[in-house]
Amino acid sequence: MTAENSPPAARSRIPRRPSVTHRPSEADGPPHPSVRRASAASEDAVHSVAAALKPRMRGWLHAGVFPLALAGGVVLITVARSAAAVAACSVYALSACLLFGTSALYHRVAWGPRGESVLRRLDHANIFLIIAGSYTPLAVLLLPAGEQRILLVLVWGGAVAGIAFRVFWLGAPRRLYTLCYIALGWAAVFYLPGFAHAGGTTVAVLVVVGGLLYTAGATVYGLKRPDPWPRWFGFHEVFHLLTIAAFTAHYTAIFLGAT
Ligand SMILES: [Zn+2]
Repeated sequence: MTAENSPPAARSRIPRRPSVTHRPSEADGPPHPSVRRASAASEDAVHSVAAALKPRMRGWLHAGVFPLALAGGVVLITVARSAAAVAACSVYALSACLLFGTSALYHRVAWGPRGESVLRRLDHANIFLIIAGSYTPLAVLLLPAGEQRILLVLVWGGAVAGIAFRVFWLGAPRRLYTLCYIALGWAAVFYLPGFAHAGGTTVAVLVVVGGLLYTAGATVYGLKRPDPWPRWFGFHEVFHLLTIAAFTAHYTAIFLGAT
């Protein structure tokens, strides 16, 4: 968790860095060791306070889903009926394992400032990967070759652009990048009739239900509410729960399309 993820009440209690009244220039030489020690100590203090305020359930939901996503991925790959379907289901399974595995590691382990900033970038990049990763088997299993290619280029191009945006602008406004996830997620809405045509109404309905659940999760994440029990199960846990429900709907749609 970062200060940005902590509940508002918690954030106000996180000590701020001391304000700098003198900006050292190159001519000043390296900062005195005591200054370095003080700033490292204040950074450590921020992290220990942030860790102490993290809701107790943080990361456990995704940690629990990781082995299920792995097993579900193996099942999909086993039932896939062509080489292209096996490849598409493998991409999907990999993106799911990356999402839940990285999220569990990021949220459950105290990494320190550097590790946390790397994992936070990966955690956010994985959201674009799961969007493109979920569309991949739907396109390959359900669409004719021409449409399949256009959809794959659209979602993977969007995912690469989104990842570059997240990695290079980590401080982007929360609501802006949340909107990017939602926009890419719904970009392929025009292919729903194609999904229904080849896979049946149930598949198309499950794709929409999954999309709505992911969107609800993104909204909770963007607004930081509802935040039911900040000490145990806060808004971020509501968001994680909604991603699991959405993933389950999409997994079922893909399983039905593959069998
Ligand atoms: Zn998270």
